[in-house]
Amino acid sequence: MTGARGKDIDDTGFKGGCLCGKIRYRSSSDPLATVHCYCTDCRRIGGTGHATHTVVPEVAFHLSGKVSEYQRSADSGNQINRRFCPQCGSAIFHTREGLEGKVVIRTSSLDDPEITKPDRVLYVSSAISWDHIDPDLPSFKKMAGEK
Ligand SMILES: [Zn+2]
Ligand SMILES: [Zn+2]
Repeated sequence: MTGARGKDIDDTGFKGGCLCGKIRYRSSSDPLATVHCYCTDCRRIGGTGHATHTVVPEVAFHLSGKVSEYQRSADSGNQINRRFCPQCGSAIFHTREGLEGKVVIRTSSLDDPEITKPDRVLYVSSAISWDHIDPDLPSFKKMAGEK
């Protein structure tokens, strides 16, 4: 990755990467949104009852390192293409149909996850009973818009 000391670096944006360090990325945009998702796919590939995702514009997302991919249909029917480190298995980001032009980063991969805060909760309909749902956040049965 070039431009580490280049003209395009300023105070906006953030960086992240995987556990082993093979995959690194930089977002030149601040997060557009950060969401908790309690869907069964996020649960199964994550480490606990839900996953937290941070959305940025695709044009702002700069990846270094070669990720592996796993594509699968979501229950909406949309294809989701999940990217992870082939070495250590860390989930890094996904893209999906219906959300063109955006990259959905695993918030757990941010170098400093404190730079953002979840603003909504998705798929509470499939949440596990013991996984706490923040009552102060707007929540949706499935995707946002489906109360
Ligand atoms: Zn790795
Ligand atoms: Zn999910």
